[in-house]
Amino acid sequence: MEIKEKPRVAFFSFTCCEGCQLMVLSCERELPDILNHIKIVNFREAMTEKSDDYDIAFVEGSISRKDEIRKLKKIRKTAKVVVALGACSATGGLNCLKNRYPMEEVKEKVYGKKAAKDYKLIDTIPARPIDTVINVDYYIHGCPIPKKEFLSFLTALLMGKKPEMTNHPVCVDCKMAGNICVFEKGISCLGPVTRAGCDAICVTYGTWCWGCRGPVDNPNTDAHEETLKRYGLTAESVTKKFALYGNCMGAKKCSVEETIKEPSKKVKTAGHK
Ligand code: SF4
Ligand code: SF4
Ligand code: SF4
Repeated sequence: MEIKEKPRVAFFSFTCCEGCQLMVLSCERELPDILNHIKIVNFREAMTEKSDDYDIAFVEGSISRKDEIRKLKKIRKTAKVVVALGACSATGGLNCLKNRYPMEEVKEKVYGKKAAKDYKLIDTIPARPIDTVINVDYYIHGCPIPKKEFLSFLTALLMGKKPEMTNHPVCVDCKMAGNICVFEKGISCLGPVTRAGCDAICVTYGTWCWGCRGPVDNPNTDAHEETLKRYGLTAESVTKKFALYGNCMGAKKCSVEETIKEPSKKVKTAGHK
């Protein structure tokens, strides 16, 4: 990554709850040190100043309007490095739920009949991850992103190292946390095929893994299916859970003309996809 001495960093948010930016802001202890090494030039949640000159863009949120496509492409043209920040951006996230239903029905349910009629004028398209629109250099997964992962990512990037991303299943973290597997309770779980790095927090706190961090590279779906069968569970039960974060349907639903990728202006930095 060829960038200036003190890289200029921008945070952008599209369709999302901005919880991942909040995680960045919650690094109170580390922020003073971080600010010794970078200059933040865009961060709507934290400052009013704005700049169109930046080296690294952290992009939070999925794309669900045409004007967001235009803005995102501009970010790609400006930034040397684009990082998808969190599940909404990386896989489409919870916003992809809207892709499951006819938009007219959704509008009416949410806004009422009259408002839904007016809402026809509002620009809305199926929600999608940002890499259906532009090339992305790195991903930080999770809903929200884990703070420690953001910090280790940024440290590696600033040191000129390739940021490493976890590529083992959540089950490994889960075993290390000493949890009892939810399969034993007759509940299906996405842990065997989901990218770890969250310390299996959902299982630790009494639920199961919903796959918010997306699949590991080359997930062993056959073994997962066999395990499900062994416990009398169906593959469908996990497919539905996986779809919650857009993992199964985000990109598939996004074959609209506007999402055709434009090539990145730089040679892709080595990194995790
Ligand atoms: S990934 Fe989750 S926490 Fe982050 S912006 Fe999206 S909904 Fe919010
Ligand atoms: S509860 Fe889920 S994540 Fe934990 S070991 Fe069982 S399948 Fe894996
Ligand atoms: S356990 Fe699964 S759903 Fe929960 S944070 Fe980790 S990856 Fe996301």
